[in-house]
Amino acid sequence: NGALRNGTEEVLHLEQYPPNKRLKTNPCNNSKEQRMEEDQTREQMVFGVTNHSGSLEDSCLSCGRRNPATFHPLFEGGLCQTCRVSAVALGLSRSPGLEEGCFCVECLEVLVGRGTSAKAKEQEPWNCYMCQPQRSYGVLQRRQDWNPRLQDFFTSDKGQEYAAPKIYPTVPPAKRRPIRVLSLFDGIATGYLVLKDLGIQVEKYIASEICEEPIAVGTMKHEGNITYVHDVRNITKRNIEEWGPFDLVIGGSPCNDLSLVNPARKGLYEGTGRLFFEFYHLLNYARPKAGEERPFFWMFENVVAMRVNDKRDISRFLECNPVMIDAIKISAAHRARYFWGNLPGMDRIFGFPLHYTDVSNMGRGSRQKLLGKSWSVPVIQHLFSPLKDYFACE
Ligand code: SAH
Repeated sequence: NGALRNGTEEVLHLEQYPPNKRLKTNPCNNSKEQRMEEDQTREQMVFGVTNHSGSLEDSCLSCGRRNPATFHPLFEGGLCQTCRVSAVALGLSRSPGLEEGCFCVECLEVLVGRGTSAKAKEQEPWNCYMCQPQRSYGVLQRRQDWNPRLQDFFTSDKGQEYAAPKIYPTVPPAKRRPIRVLSLFDGIATGYLVLKDLGIQVEKYIASEICEEPIAVGTMKHEGNITYVHDVRNITKRNIEEWGPFDLVIGGSPCNDLSLVNPARKGLYEGTGRLFFEFYHLLNYARPKAGEERPFFWMFENVVAMRVNDKRDISRFLECNPVMIDAIKISAAHRARYFWGNLPGMDRIFGFPLHYTDVSNMGRGSRQKLLGKSWSVPVIQHLFSPLKDYFACE
């Protein structure tokens, strides 16, 4: 019954498709009339968009419901509250064709056009809609400013503001010393590897890890330079005083009881979720005492797909909001992670100071476009850094 813009056949025979999931409705919209008004299938949404009687931004791209609560960060269109929650929980891996090599048949058929999923199956490798050259496929249109939108999407439910972390003055080259590290839940010694890659001298690297296999990796690859102290739960305040002082405390506690991907998760206060508190109290033991003036850094990592309450509680204990990193490398959306910490530069959106583009009443949309097109500050910092050897510095 008509054709989509890209020439594929219109989708109207609803019974050929799995029924749209009618999940819980937005609790704010509890009037029956309003709910009925908002009810719309994705097929109806697509029909409205293709004959120009409706706009994608007015509907949830995931279920079709009208009056979405927010925007879809990657593609033009909205997201209702229910679909927003599951998108956050799944790190967006349910977005149209975002997981490496995987796609949702229903999304492709409804949004891109009938027969798309069959064609996609023949392609090896299949490129997702973030990687494909064109921006538009059917009604699926990649946002030009998806990059800042994505950051915004994961960090906009901040809830609470915290004081900015203390900024330590940098150390003059002659006074710089090798770093002393406490790494909890060390895994395969990624922290050690990166410090060495950066050329930073490591005086000591004390690692808590209970699993034999990652310990074997760390021991073999780093020639016994890592001191293993096993179970984090047995580390005492006195241990920290004996082994310290530390300049850097890092760790990402096991995520299985926090991750929404695990239906049997126990949350932050039970099971492995509680290991966060081991990080928290050992971090506090390792902090410089009052009057001790030295740069001290820390970082805690965990999955994005955690309950909003757990994220909020972790932030309250650590007294800062996390930044979300890595969903940007869309090929592995499930690697999206939150990072809490006080490393310099962590609290900047895209490397720009907050409100950097907030000039002359420029609207939010324009600011997002600017950030979307701009260079990435850390990349340029890296490229420009050799200039310091040529020109006078502050
Ligand atoms: N960031 C690490 C991976 C962390 S995964 C990396 O880059 O490799 C969490 C790790 O915590 C796992 O390796 C797990 O074996 C370890 N772990 C679980 N319980 C622990 C405990 N009680 N004490 C120390 N380590 C523990």
